[in-house]
Amino acid sequence: MDASVTSTYEDPRAHAVRERYLDIFGGPELPVPVEAIAEDMLGLRIEESWELGDCSGVLLPSRRRILLNAAERAHGDVPIRRHRFTVAHEVGHWVCHCLEGRAAVQPAALCRKVDLRLDADRALEREANIFASELLMPEAAVRAVWGELVAQSHEVDPAAVCAERLDVSPVAMGWRLFNLGLVEERPV
Ligand SMILES: [Zn+2]
Repeated sequence: MDASVTSTYEDPRAHAVRERYLDIFGGPELPVPVEAIAEDMLGLRIEESWELGDCSGVLLPSRRRILLNAAERAHGDVPIRRHRFTVAHEVGHWVCHCLEGRAAVQPAALCRKVDLRLDADRALEREANIFASELLMPEAAVRAVWGELVAQSHEVDPAAVCAERLDVSPVAMGWRLFNLGLVEERPV
């Protein structure tokens, strides 16, 4: 894969956050404990709200709150996984743009569904997505699980199993596999 494409999707800050958590709290590495990273380590409170309109998630830095759109939880399994991505995305805003509370300006982030796509058009949203993707789907772990599954069997859908193991949505995993050059097709 073209190195310039790969480097677009590296964010060492995500790895640093994950490693810091494991150093302090220990526990299993996968699936990445994103809610505990936000709440226990970074001191952000996660709440659900029915009043977010077309926003999937909101970061309120001054109140140290992440708000999740409750409507997105109401439809079973996959939306809950999407919540994990939303939490990771808001953590991305907190770490990259608020410098964990140390930045001079701490704008609230209002993140719409379209902002949570890897092809989001706003630069800060894209950055938060890359952070989220790296946080929840560490490259080494994805490659290890993928390699194991592909070697094992052709019966299962390895992308779906990968998504399950890392507890992310199939679409998020599809993008990750595409960006790592493990699959040739972009997710729909
Ligand atoms: Zn955002």
